[in-house]
Amino acid sequence: MDVYTLPDLPYAADALQPHISAQLMSLHHDKHHAAYVKGANKALETLADAKPDQVAGLERNLAFNVSGHVLHSLLWTSMSPDGGGKPDGDLGDAVDESFGSFDAFRARFVATMTTVQGSGWAILTWEPLAQRLLVAQLRDHQSNTLVGSTPILVADAWEHAYYLDYHNDKDAWAEAFCNVADWRSAQRRFDERMVAVAHRA
Ligand code: MN
Repeated sequence: MDVYTLPDLPYAADALQPHISAQLMSLHHDKHHAAYVKGANKALETLADAKPDQVAGLERNLAFNVSGHVLHSLLWTSMSPDGGGKPDGDLGDAVDESFGSFDAFRARFVATMTTVQGSGWAILTWEPLAQRLLVAQLRDHQSNTLVGSTPILVADAWEHAYYLDYHNDKDAWAEAFCNVADWRSAQRRFDERMVAVAHRA
């Protein structure tokens, strides 16, 4: 069986400067993300031999680390040196339909990033039953999850994601993220969610 592995960054650590420093990117990827990969593999290994009274705690550990790994893998491709601006095409249309306008979406997304209490994420996600985009606030990595929805763009609102560059200025971090947000990879994930729906039909 495969184990979880740390993906390479899709660009150099200094590629998102001046919005995100090379030191912050390296720490975030090489230390924080790597720890979730290690934690996910360790949790699976420990669960294999667990006694029943150990399972609940280990399952929480597994959800935390696997979700942390998945979200960070999505994070690196939610940002790009060629990012910023806004989505066009059918993702742009879906943003307009779901939120009224891109500016209204952006205000909602920034508010979701900057009001996380403790550690969490802001994500733009596709909800397949309602057939619409939603902005969701995840707590830690796995709480407050919208089950069955597909993440399209994810922004890390943990302090480790911005403190080195922006200290306690969450607004500045949200602005920096919007300046590197990769709407082309978001469009690819949006396209794939259509394929998934077609296969189910
Ligand atoms: Mn992080």
